[in-house]
Amino acid sequence: MVAAKPLHEGLFSWPTEIPNLIGSQCLDCGEYAFPKQNSCRACSGQNMTSADLGNAGNLWTWTVQSFMPKTPYHTHETQETFTPYGVGYIEMACGLKVESRLRENSPELLKIGMPMKLEIITVRTDDEGSDLLTFQFCAAEEQS
Ligand SMILES: [Zn+2]
Repeated sequence: MVAAKPLHEGLFSWPTEIPNLIGSQCLDCGEYAFPKQNSCRACSGQNMTSADLGNAGNLWTWTVQSFMPKTPYHTHETQETFTPYGVGYIEMACGLKVESRLRENSPELLKIGMPMKLEIITVRTDDEGSDLLTFQFCAAEEQS
């Protein structure tokens, strides 16, 4: 079995059956943040706690990215094999909007307000053969 590990620690719960995004919440004013912050962007408080943001939300806005991802998000794709991908903001249940790569990459498949779910994908394999994982969102319901 090939080991798999998150590209960046602490963005989502792992390993687990159903990963959730992990952010932070300010204990003083209730403001959420993702990724985790050490101080609150709303009130500048330092009284932060870890917050489970869940694994579902609604598409708030999106665009299709037609440039290759920069390091460290690069994949095994080359300029020749690269396919454009969607990038969007997902509004989570707590109201926080999270920027994410999207599985869908064409305007026909993406509609503002549509339900989205978290999924974990392999970005690339490192030198030791471990899969490096990151998250993206995809449509929560299959589209016909
Ligand atoms: Zn605050």
